[in-house]
Amino acid sequence: MKFQLPDSIQKAIEILRRCGFCGYLVGGCVRDYLMGTPPLDFDMTTDATPAEVMNCFRDYRVIETGIAHGTVTVILEGLSIEITTHRTETSYSDKRHPDAVIFTKNIEDDLARRDFTMNAMAYHPSQGLIDLFGGEKDIENQVIRCVGDPNRRFNEDALRIIRGLRFASVLGFELEKNTRMALFENRELLKAISVERLSTEFTKLLCGENVKAVVINGVTVLGVIIPELLLMEDFDQMNPHHCHDVLTHTLVALENIKPIPHLRWTILFHDMGKPETFTQDDRGIGHFRGHGQVSERIARMRLNALKMDKTTISQVCTLVKYHDYPLEPSKKSIKRWLNRLSRPLFLDLLAVKQADISAQAPDHPERLEILEAVQCLMAEIISQNECFSRKDLAVNGRDLIGMGIKDGPEVGRILEVLLEEVIDERIENTWEILMEKARSLKNVN
Ligand code: ATP
Ligand code: MG
Repeated sequence: MKFQLPDSIQKAIEILRRCGFCGYLVGGCVRDYLMGTPPLDFDMTTDATPAEVMNCFRDYRVIETGIAHGTVTVILEGLSIEITTHRTETSYSDKRHPDAVIFTKNIEDDLARRDFTMNAMAYHPSQGLIDLFGGEKDIENQVIRCVGDPNRRFNEDALRIIRGLRFASVLGFELEKNTRMALFENRELLKAISVERLSTEFTKLLCGENVKAVVINGVTVLGVIIPELLLMEDFDQMNPHHCHDVLTHTLVALENIKPIPHLRWTILFHDMGKPETFTQDDRGIGHFRGHGQVSERIARMRLNALKMDKTTISQVCTLVKYHDYPLEPSKKSIKRWLNRLSRPLFLDLLAVKQADISAQAPDHPERLEILEAVQCLMAEIISQNECFSRKDLAVNGRDLIGMGIKDGPEVGRILEVLLEEVIDERIENTWEILMEKARSLKNVN
């Protein structure tokens, strides 16, 4: 078997060889090659120590990415290649970090410490594929299987538990029986994992193509990280507009939206407040008043606990909060939304609503029609450069100060009134007219 390697990888292997070392491709990129997908990034492993790697590549750009873990990044012809010294790891007494990193000359030991058979293969242009644990066959059969005893491997590093689900979601593979059983049995260990490592894997899981099946089947595991998921399972909405329980609805909606992290997180949380806000009317129909706000509160709490980045938290919370607000297909109303959320976030809100509505009972086709009408009107507002924010106004703060309005909050207040007037089409957005209006506003006070 021969892989088509980029020139820079061949060159890196050749440079190591000339220095007396052996370099292999390893991990995800070997898996990608076997699956016929071109790898996006390349990891290598070598018998050279990090200092030796740096010396071999002294004529090139080298970044000391994680010297303590044995990793050096080499930039060759624009491609960045992570080169890590072969390692074996001793016990993980805290279930989070290997107690010590031990370098080894031995590629076999390095492969044995890796998580799943499909990730535990190496490739060398002249030695071919090194597959000690049947990874190639498992890829062929689309199976995720731990290297060695699953129980021991999940106890060593519990991150592997969520990585197993992440790969099931992204690759659409099945978990091998013993791996699956051990994954469920050891789920509580996830509590000990550093949240930064956890959230990276969780985000990848949410962006996988097979996310629906993985969350449905793995809800007890993911519930260790986000317990509110457990309340959503089988929660009957008792409402004719909904043909699914809360969890199933959420997962159908998840698959209706693009695999972009903040959008997928938004959908995961959007109805999480429903169990808490559930009421029934005289006819037994279920209602969830204010669930958007409760969902927003849960999203903020959980995303903060996961130490997600501030931008994602703010986008997700805004989208969750407004996901259920009615939209009116009028330019005035759309301009207010655009001003409140900014254009990209309003577009996201439309995508969230579309995914949400498409996962409800199909008894209200007009809901999607309204969304379409809103989209058309918005396109018109944008293409005609219509004014919807302060910066679109024909006057700015300096103009107002120039006419004698005191610098400070008063300037903002008057600009806001002018914007309202323009959006409501009571006055035109021209310099003269806005200045005249500003003058009258100034005189009032
Ligand atoms: P992706 O294509 O998503 O990057 P990947 O397989 O490259 O997938 P990484 O997280 O980049 O995943 O890890 C690189 C390799 O390191 C894996 O293929 C695996 O061999 C090994 N690895 C990563 N995390 C662990 C872990 N927690 N335990 C054991 N081996 C691991
Ligand atoms: Mg990788």
